[in-house]
Amino acid sequence: MSAETIQRVVVVGSGTMGNGIAHVFAQYGYSVSLVDVKQEFLDRALKTISSNLDRQIKKGTLTDTQKAETLARITLTLDGEAACKEGDFVVEAVTENEQIKKELFRNFDRWTPPATVLATNTSSISITEIAAVTRRPEKVIGMHFMNPVPVMKLVEVIRGLATSDETFQTVKALSEKLEKVPVEVNDYPGFVSNRILLPMLNEAMYCVMEGVATPDSIDTVMKLGMNHPMGPLQLADFIGLDVCLSILEVLHNGLGDPKYRPCPLLKKMVAAGHLGKKSGRGFYTYS
Ligand code: NAD
Repeated sequence: MSAETIQRVVVVGSGTMGNGIAHVFAQYGYSVSLVDVKQEFLDRALKTISSNLDRQIKKGTLTDTQKAETLARITLTLDGEAACKEGDFVVEAVTENEQIKKELFRNFDRWTPPATVLATNTSSISITEIAAVTRRPEKVIGMHFMNPVPVMKLVEVIRGLATSDETFQTVKALSEKLEKVPVEVNDYPGFVSNRILLPMLNEAMYCVMEGVATPDSIDTVMKLGMNHPMGPLQLADFIGLDVCLSILEVLHNGLGDPKYRPCPLLKKMVAAGHLGKKSGRGFYTYS
């Protein structure tokens, strides 16, 4: 199916990324079914979308009418099967768990017409492997949005081994319709974004572990010396240290090179439940 014929988008998973993805598709005129496993998650997602739209109004980039129209295009549902039967395009943004994602893609394959493109927002799981559980691997692709989705321009468009040119062109065109900048990437562990970012964050953690400098000093060096908007340790806290560890494990296992070995301090902090901003404590403390 080409990007021109897509009107109804199914977003599966309504957490941090899913609500942002639903937000942008709805803002750009698509009707969106937002799917999750609990009504309270969907309600929370809609609240988040509403307050993020308010922020755009405050900035002067959106009108009250456009906000109302955007919200009116979003349907919340617990029935993924019914949503997929009606949808023209599926983008999955559920928890980063290979088994859950593979199970869902088996279902999408049964629930949607054979021409429907199935995209995943995974940060690190192999697109090729997800595609292999379906009968349409040529129609499976990575559509990796960045957080926060309404603000960040980049979409990494990841081709699995079997992804067709047609599928790639559809997702590229769709990303452009959302005024994002799609970048073509092949399916290797971590793609481009996390392959480059995570080793830098890991190295900053080794610097803390070895006492090279304090977290604050390390972040200051990278902010003032390299012009990074946020230091690597603050960024790791924001991403979540458990998420950082799991991506590093994917790089380490998938590429087999010891340079991706997760920092022992990171492993210890995750084991202690110091997960960064979301748990109130990581390299910094949060109230
Ligand atoms: P999250 O934990 O905030 O949200 C995941 C949502 O998926 C939850 O609401 C959960 O209830 C729902 N879910 C789980 N199983 C489901 C199922 N079977 N059917 C429907 N819904 C289900 O996670 P997130 O941070 O939004 O991440 C989602 C995906 O996006 C992951 O693959 C992650 O790697 C990727 N990603 C995350 C970021 C980020 O910065 N958070 C950035 C880029 C990509």
